[in-house]
Amino acid sequence: SERKKADIHEGIESTLVMLQHRLDENQIELIKEYGELPPLECYPGQLNQVFINILSNAIDAVIARPQLAPSKARAHDGETVPRKISIKTELQGEAVAIRITDNGIGIPPELQNQIFNPFFTTKEVGQGTGLGLAISYEIIVKKHHGRIHCQSHPSQGTEFTLVIPCRSNSA
Ligand code: ADP
Ligand code: MG
Repeated sequence: SERKKADIHEGIESTLVMLQHRLDENQIELIKEYGELPPLECYPGQLNQVFINILSNAIDAVIARPQLAPSKARAHDGETVPRKISIKTELQGEAVAIRITDNGIGIPPELQNQIFNPFFTTKEVGQGTGLGLAISYEIIVKKHHGRIHCQSHPSQGTEFTLVIPCRSNSA
């Protein structure tokens, strides 16, 4: 794909169009807090791939957490909490920070240093290739000179932070 100036929020919105069906079907609440961002010099198609990978994992994680129930069930059971995914963006100096947070199953501490490895997956055969985060790492770190970072607590949730410089030379 081609390198050009792009609006990050447009990229996120276009990936959400693709994921909307899964969000609706599973009654996942989506919270968006978009900061004011300058256009980013990037490979927009590749960044969209990253958003899809991370958001798809967040969807899988909230569905997999048994305490979370769709909001219809919640009305009949005070014990359950809604499935939530939030997307926040902000300018952080000369970089754009994108945080994608879910209240899903979380990642055990002993596995957290393996999640970016190619083919690492905890999903059933046929459900996961284990390539989503490895590819995302390549795209963010190698292609955009950015950083990708994960913070997670089992049965509380996970937050991925992407930091991408607004102008990265020779990406
Ligand atoms: P896949 O989704 O095909 O398993 P990924 O590279 O996308 O491969 O993710 C690797 C692993 O990291 C997942 O199998 C899962 O164990 C863990 N993981 C990634 N994102 C999350 C998340 N938001 N919540 C819980 N676990 C996650
Ligand atoms: Mg994945």
